Amino acid sequence: PAQILDGKKIAAEVRAEVKEEVSRLKAEGINPGLAVVLVGEDPASQVYVRNKHRACEEVGIYSEVHRLPAATSQAELLKLIDQLNKDPKIHGILVQLPLPDHIDEKKVIDAIALEKDVDGFSPANVGNLVIGDKCFYPCTPHGCMVLLEKAGIDPKGKKAVVVGRSNIVGKPVAMMLLARHATVTICHSRTRDLAAECRQADILIAAVGKPELITGDMIKEGAVVIDVGINRVGEKKLVGDVHFESAAQKAGWITPVPGGVGPMTIAMLLKNTVEAARR
Ligand code: NAD
Repeated sequence: PAQILDGKKIAAEVRAEVKEEVSRLKAEGINPGLAVVLVGEDPASQVYVRNKHRACEEVGIYSEVHRLPAATSQAELLKLIDQLNKDPKIHGILVQLPLPDHIDEKKVIDAIALEKDVDGFSPANVGNLVIGDKCFYPCTPHGCMVLLEKAGIDPKGKKAVVVGRSNIVGKPVAMMLLARHATVTICHSRTRDLAAECRQADILIAAVGKPELITGDMIKEGAVVIDVGINRVGEKKLVGDVHFESAAQKAGWITPVPGGVGPMTIAMLLKNTVEAARR
């Protein structure tokens, strides 16, 4: 059976590293700061924002949360972004998505100064990621890469299969694997034979949002399985995109859900914020 890639433990290690880096920066007179912008009252977003704020406090990063009413106009939001772009206390700006329908998400993300785009979603940052220039790694895909690294897995020459092609997970993680010299296949909802593609994978990354879509029979013996999916089934239970029990029989390494990629995402946000301050 597979070894567990313990995201909770690895995220704690990353946070401890960040905390030390924060102390070093403060000793040099730099106080890293993150601004989080939340528009509206989406309950999940509220939880995410609270967790991000708390995580900042824990490692000594200054953080401010801007809570705006759902009726906030796009112009008002852009004005706030502009202020934050110019604010020397702030090194990273994160706009919690999704935004209300009357606001053009793309316009808002694109308004964030490139050097403060710690979420890494702006077109310019994504462009830099693709051409291999200096950029911020988007947090969730970066978390996947750090998990691989901590498990001692070098993607070089390996066959990596990414299931999902979203802009926040699938596409960027595929680019990062490519940069690390993996041979990368990206699967999506129109892929003809998902099982056959997955069976080729030495490294399988699932970012679909379909509970337990990927089962043990689709996993190559000894593969590394990173499950990004977070799916709520029933009242309380959370499951990934991978059927854990059957997949763990075949995989060499596997991430649990919860406790895998989830905790890594915020840890990477902290890392990017410190990096932004360092720059
Ligand atoms: P998304 O809905 O934007 O994209 C899903 C992708 O899966 C699409 O590209 C689609 O083509 C593909 N897909 C859908 N059905 C498929 C099928 N049957 N076979 C193959 N591919 C299929 O989702 P997302 O934002 O990338 O998120 C994916 C999952 O990861 C969700 O469960 C989400 O909650 C989770 N997530 C977790 C974190 C974290 O911090 N751990 C962060 C972001 C997203």
